Amino acid sequence: MDKIISFNVKCPHCHRSLMDHEHLLHELPAIKLNIEIAHQRGILRLCSIYGCYDHESDIQIPEHEIARFYCPHCNKQLVAQEICDACSAPMVPFLLDIGGRVSICSRSGCKKHYVAFEDIADAINKFYKEYGYH
Ligand SMILES: [Zn+2]
Ligand SMILES: [Zn+2]
Repeated sequence: MDKIISFNVKCPHCHRSLMDHEHLLHELPAIKLNIEIAHQRGILRLCSIYGCYDHESDIQIPEHEIARFYCPHCNKQLVAQEICDACSAPMVPFLLDIGGRVSICSRSGCKKHYVAFEDIADAINKFYKEYGYH
């Protein structure tokens, strides 16, 4: 089995978990967000595995459109200062429960993302402790 790194993320505004333990993707809790795209609103669930772009939604998500993401708890928009250096769309920030941040591009189909750990060695140790994959 390959190494799997899965992210548990929190809202940067209210710090509540965005993990949906009732809805699994690849047997792990999905990241649940409210989304607005092409004048529709719906729910988006992202796979929490690093490098996996699988997702599910109750609305049709057109390719190459920029979506707006909202926290399902506090309803604030998740939007970073940074823009995607591949497609210039705004980035969407999350806090990692192990410390650090991850941001994803808000354009559907763009796989650009950034991960920033406060302490990379510490973060990797926690991954192994928590998930035990080798
Ligand atoms: Zn929130
Ligand atoms: Zn992009």
